[in-house]
Amino acid sequence: MKKQPGSVWVIAEQIDCRILDVSLQLIAHARKLAIELETSVEAVLLGDKMNEQTRQLFAAGADRVYLGNAPDLAHYQPEIYTEIIVKLAKERQPEIVLIGSTSMGRELAPLVAARLGTGLTAHCIDLVLDENKILESIIPAYGGLLSIICPEKRPQMATIAAGVFPKPEMDENRTGEIIALEVPDDIPRRIQTLEIIREKPQGVSFESAPIVVAGGAGAGDLEGWRKIADLAETLNAALGATRPAVDEGWAELETMVGQSGKIVSPELYIGVGLSGELQHMVGIVGAKVMVAINNDAKSPVFEQVDYGVVDDCREFVPVLINKIKEYQEKLVTC
Ligand SMILES: Cc1cc2nc3c(=O)[nH]c(=O)nc-3n(C[C@H](O)[C@H](O)[C@H](O)COP(=O)(O)OP(=O)(O)OC[C@H]3O[C@@H](n4cnc5c(N)ncnc54)[C@H](O)[C@@H]3O)c2cc1C
Repeated sequence: MKKQPGSVWVIAEQIDCRILDVSLQLIAHARKLAIELETSVEAVLLGDKMNEQTRQLFAAGADRVYLGNAPDLAHYQPEIYTEIIVKLAKERQPEIVLIGSTSMGRELAPLVAARLGTGLTAHCIDLVLDENKILESIIPAYGGLLSIICPEKRPQMATIAAGVFPKPEMDENRTGEIIALEVPDDIPRRIQTLEIIREKPQGVSFESAPIVVAGGAGAGDLEGWRKIADLAETLNAALGATRPAVDEGWAELETMVGQSGKIVSPELYIGVGLSGELQHMVGIVGAKVMVAINNDAKSPVFEQVDYGVVDDCREFVPVLINKIKEYQEKLVTC
């Protein structure tokens, strides 16, 4: 007799009792995989006083929610969260476990995978099933796309960034089963959250910005980077970065756009001094109009954008800023 596959899990994430969009996006995608696998979608939600929020998980497509409610779970704690999820996964044997590539997910997913002795594909840009119903976790690599499979060990695990999958259609009439988890108090608590200090977001947020200006290694140095930042400010755009710009310390990790960073869908994307590597470009596939500024006419970025400017960005960007400001002043005086 054919063995019934385990369910598709999503480890849902909440911050201040608010379910993150990525968790709902993953549940909706998990639903598609579960239909193909002829199994169910289950979410694991850890927090404090989270009963009401389970409705969102059902509305997005979950059939069952494992709910851990306790003051100790209000904020993500790696040891306790790992312990609870690992114990539950050993009992329930899910087929697939999906986690958002958030600050929490990037830490929690490998902790859980290591404890379960299974594989994990990080920062996937798509998840499909092959002809044997094995999960293909797709990532950009070697200038193309690569499918990673975990054919023997279970669960098959993957992390996926917010925005990779679309916003789900929420069916508020959907309901499901809630299974309350016991939260043991003998789990080591070597790490404790004493206080949460929130950084004020700087500049324009990626979520609301119709324009994203992203800078790359071609900025050359911090002075060159500031010119790109000025362009973003002049256009009231969100400022994104490539990996090298983050590594150089010019930009914060949170502003990195691409496979391991933010996935954005602006009306206009302007890539400055960057080569168009797939790991960056998958972050802006949803952009409506794309422009690149690069001093190498043969740069692969030009094959991927709608408009290109071949010039030294350190010279061209200040001229562009002046032109934009002149235009903006004309608009105001009209
Ligand atoms: C698993 C994995 C995940 C990754 N995830 C990400 C990710 O999420 N986001 C990301 O960005 N990267 C990511 N990377 C890195 C990615 O592969 C590339 O290395 C990176 O995107 C390249 O950044 P860049 O275009 O700024 O630098 P480069 O590739 O070095 O390109 C610099 C470009 O600037 C141009 N240039 C130089 N000087 C000037 C000038 N004065 N004026 C104009 N143009 C100039 C050059 O012609 C060149 O095209 C990842 C890599 C791996 C292996």
